[in-house]
Amino acid sequence: MFETDLDHEGAHEGATNLRCRAFLASAAAAIGGLALWQWKKPAVLNATPVARPEPKDVTIVLFSDSGQRLKKVQIAKVIKTADEWRKQLPPGVFDITRNADTEIAFTGKYWNLHDTGIYRCICCDNALFDSATKFESGTGWPSFWAPIAPENVSEIRDTTFGMVRIAVACTECDAHLGHVFDDGPEPTHLRYCMNSAALRFAKQT
Ligand SMILES: [Zn+2]
Repeated sequence: MFETDLDHEGAHEGATNLRCRAFLASAAAAIGGLALWQWKKPAVLNATPVARPEPKDVTIVLFSDSGQRLKKVQIAKVIKTADEWRKQLPPGVFDITRNADTEIAFTGKYWNLHDTGIYRCICCDNALFDSATKFESGTGWPSFWAPIAPENVSEIRDTTFGMVRIAVACTECDAHLGHVFDDGPEPTHLRYCMNSAALRFAKQT
């Protein structure tokens, strides 16, 4: 690359000027390289990536489809670009899980489901909720009083639409799932108000 720069400069500049330019270029490269080297490590750790974040390990708890807790594992976070998610998911599901949209109440496939089983993330299959914690909230969205394991969901302060809410996301892939409110039933008084479209029900067999 340096050679190419020299050739290019040489075609237009005198020899003296060329050496001067070459020295300046290499000095600048050296200083730039040093600065980059010193700066790179903390910058990577502190970065807030946009398109494709750095790989990151997360801790989740694995469950069988019958709801049996298997083990806690540390795994690489599922990271895909918007285009990759768009290819994988139907449009409505993409809008909800990747763009924090909300399905219309009473239209999803799980608000009125009473079967025994667990609800997994539609994007990555992470176990999210157990039917044992599902209750009738009357809202038209599937509602639970607790996640299947606190590790498996993450909660984020959400101030969109002029409200302060707590958004709930999948720990493994950051899929937006819904919101959690503090007007739920015993024993937690929490109401995890989820979008059916963000979930895949695995019926206990
Ligand atoms: Zn997920």
